[in-house]
Amino acid sequence: METVKKMAILADSAKYDVSCSSSGSNRKNSGGVGNGALSGICHSWSEDGRCISLLKTLYTNNCVYDCAYCINRISNDIPRASFTPRELADLTIDFYRRNYIEGLFLSSGVYPNPDKTMENLIETMEILRKEYKFFGYIHVKAIPGADPLLINKAGMLADRMSVNIELPSEKSLRLLAPQKSKEKIFKPMAQITQGLMQIGEEKGKYRFSQKFVPAGQSTQMIVGATNDTDLSIISLSQGLYDNFKLKRVYYSAYVPVNEGPNLPALIQAPPMKRENRLYQADWLLRFYGFKASELLDQDNQNFDMDLDPKCDWAIRHFDFFPVEINKASYNEILRVPGIGVKSAKKIIKMRKFGKIDFLGLKKLGVVLKRAKYFITCNGRYSEGLYIYPENLRNRLIQKKPADMQIKIFQESGL
Ligand code: SF4
Repeated sequence: METVKKMAILADSAKYDVSCSSSGSNRKNSGGVGNGALSGICHSWSEDGRCISLLKTLYTNNCVYDCAYCINRISNDIPRASFTPRELADLTIDFYRRNYIEGLFLSSGVYPNPDKTMENLIETMEILRKEYKFFGYIHVKAIPGADPLLINKAGMLADRMSVNIELPSEKSLRLLAPQKSKEKIFKPMAQITQGLMQIGEEKGKYRFSQKFVPAGQSTQMIVGATNDTDLSIISLSQGLYDNFKLKRVYYSAYVPVNEGPNLPALIQAPPMKRENRLYQADWLLRFYGFKASELLDQDNQNFDMDLDPKCDWAIRHFDFFPVEINKASYNEILRVPGIGVKSAKKIIKMRKFGKIDFLGLKKLGVVLKRAKYFITCNGRYSEGLYIYPENLRNRLIQKKPADMQIKIFQESGL
C-alpha cells in the first residue's frame, strides 16, 4: 500500500486520542533539523495558549485488543494499515521540511504484542533522532505491558510520553477493556515518574545529564462511556497529579463509534459540556489549590452543567465569603469566582502601595461581574449591591444567546 494511503487510514484512526500537547519541552538543536524549544497535521494547544502543529498518527491500527469503545478494536471490520519505522520517519521529516508540522504525536494499536509495538515506535524515533538529527518535538505512547527497558529507551528519545488510562475505574476497564488493567497502566506511569525524578536529582549533581521525557507525561480519560461520576474522575486526576507528577490529564467526551451491550447508545451526542466542566475543575486542581473532595462530594457527585465548578463551590460554601480584598491571603483571593491567577497576583502586589477599592480593582483589570458578589473592599460590598444568597445561583447562571435560542426552539416545538 502507498504511504499516502497508509497515512490517510492511520491519521484517521488516531483522531480520537486527545492526549497531546507539546508545551514544556526544551530540546535544543545541536546541528540537526527542528527545534523542540517550548513549543511542539493536528493542531494542538500548548499550555501557554499557542497553536502548534503535530503530525498525529498511529504506527499501526492493527490491534490484538478488543476495547469496546475503540474504532481500532480487533473485532471491527475496518481498513487496516501499518507503517514501517523507516516510512514513518521519512514521512515525518518530509512534512517537517515542507513546514507542515513542528513535531510528531505517535501512538499505536497493540500489534502483535506490547513489546514489539514499543520496539517499532522506538525504531521510528531512533531514525528521526540519530539519523536525521531531528530535534523537534515528539510525543509517544508508552504501551502498557511493554518491557520496562523499552519504556526507558523510549523516554530517552521522546519529549513527552503518555499512558492512556482511558476509563476511570477498574470496574469500567473490566466492562469495556478487559485486556487492560489498572496495574498494567500504572506500572509504566510509575516508571516514567521515577525516571523523571532520577533525572531531576542528577541535574543537581552533574553539569550534563541525559534527557528523559523532558516535557513530562500525560494521560487521557474517556468521559461518558461508563457510569463513573465526575467525583471519581476528578479524584483520580488529583491522585495522578499528586503521585505521578503528571503534566496533564486530558478528558475526551465519549464518541460512539461502535455498538455493544455495555456501551451507551450509538446516537448519543458526545458529552461536550461535561468534558468542559472537567477541564475547568482540572484547572482548579492544578493552579488554584482546590482538592477534588472540595469541589464534589458524596451528595454532589457530578458538576453542575449550568455553573462552572468554581462558582458552584463558592455558592455551596457561602460562609467562606465575603473575602476582604485588602486583607485576604493570595489563596483566599484565588477562590473568588471571576478572579484568576493573574488578577490575584496583581491585587497582592498593589496592596503594598495602599488600600484597594472597587475602582482600583477595575483599573487592575479585575472583572467584577461575578467577583463582586463574593468580595468586600475596605469592609464594604460594591455600591448598590444587595446580596441575597438564595438568588445568587440564578443571577450567576448566564445563559448564552445560543443556549437561549435552543431553549426557545425546544419549548416552542420548532
Ligand atoms: S488497545 Fe488501544 S488501539 Fe487497541 S483496541 Fe484498545 S484502545 Fe483501541
